Amino acid sequence: MATHSLFLLPGDGIGTEIMAEVEKLIAHTNAKGWTDFTTENGLVGGSAYDAHGVAISEEDMEKALGADAVIFGAVGGAKWDSVPYEVRPEAGLLRLRKDLGLFANLRPAICYSALAEASSLKKELVEGLDILIVRELTGGVYFGEPKEITELGNGQKRAVDTQVYESYEIDRIARVAFDLAMTRGKKVHSADKKNVMKSGVLWDEVVRQAAGDYPEIELYHILADNAAMQLVRNPKQFDVMVTDNLFGDILSDAAAMLTGSLGMLPSASLGAPDAQTGKRKALYEPVHGSAPDIAGQGVANPIAMIASFAMALRYSFGMIDLAGRVEKAISDVLEDGLRTGDIMQDGCKRVGTAEMGDAIIAKLG
Ligand code: NAD
Repeated sequence: MATHSLFLLPGDGIGTEIMAEVEKLIAHTNAKGWTDFTTENGLVGGSAYDAHGVAISEEDMEKALGADAVIFGAVGGAKWDSVPYEVRPEAGLLRLRKDLGLFANLRPAICYSALAEASSLKKELVEGLDILIVRELTGGVYFGEPKEITELGNGQKRAVDTQVYESYEIDRIARVAFDLAMTRGKKVHSADKKNVMKSGVLWDEVVRQAAGDYPEIELYHILADNAAMQLVRNPKQFDVMVTDNLFGDILSDAAAMLTGSLGMLPSASLGAPDAQTGKRKALYEPVHGSAPDIAGQGVANPIAMIASFAMALRYSFGMIDLAGRVEKAISDVLEDGLRTGDIMQDGCKRVGTAEMGDAIIAKLG
């Protein structure tokens, strides 16, 4: 069996508590002979600042660049609110995204049957929901230049952000979406605002061109504002949705909330395939932050972190079967009525972080 290297960056707050459950899971799958992962741990965020005065050390950046996948917990906390801007905890995550070239952000929105009642939408609209939003992460209006506020001299100011995309940026994210859709329902919605934005016109043109290489994919165009409406009206019509950085930021948060708690939401960020090996750089992390309000109490929900690890199994290592079994184990413990505080429901059993992790591992057999 091939040996794969994982670089674990637990970070701050609950990051260390939820990463401990992934470490137990890795030890289990290795012991069973299902995987052969080697792991190394590093520091990121506030914990790296305390140790090295930076949000991630050069040595740990080297390890992240050399690993087959990076598994990231969460960073931040009040303790580091007043550290210099360049070394604030989030700078560690931004550096990782930039240096690993992670341009594709994958945000699944999966509604486990046992939690369908907890959604803000009607149960029948969300039960069985399984959407994957593919968001462009390194371009668009968050990075385009000029980006400035200028004084107009008449007591007024003018703010400018620039939405800019080049065709190669659109082409590569479209191909990620099509590749992923080929492993799922083979249906992609591409969301933009081509009715009012030139970047939307180019987006649509390039996405359609790339689709020519994927004859089995059903491609639909949707205006981003309509996508927002459809997500809350009839979310199950979607399989994969691909969109730019700004619309993806908003649409992925809206889709995520259809499924309940922040503590349930995994994510992955992928880079371009290596020209020689075809392997992509990748970082897997829960969507939530370091939850300082509950850190150190052993009550955090480890499911988003464990589900992020399942995404690594699927997308970095092609272990589709094992990824599915981990996801099924999560679903099974929820069916059994086990709940951490954030997803607690009447009649269920409240458990802590370690108990939830142990129960998921036990379901794997
Ligand atoms: P948060 O996601 O940390 O917490 C929001 C709320 O959700 C809190 O009430 C928290 O207790 C709860 N929550 C989050 N994850 C949970 C889990 N796994 N189990 C149970 N409950 C959970 O967001 P915040 O409070 O806005 O930010 C806290 C810190 O995290 C800040 O320093 C912020 O900058 C940072 N942050 C980091 C990341 C990241 O590392 N990617 C993302 C968001 C926020």
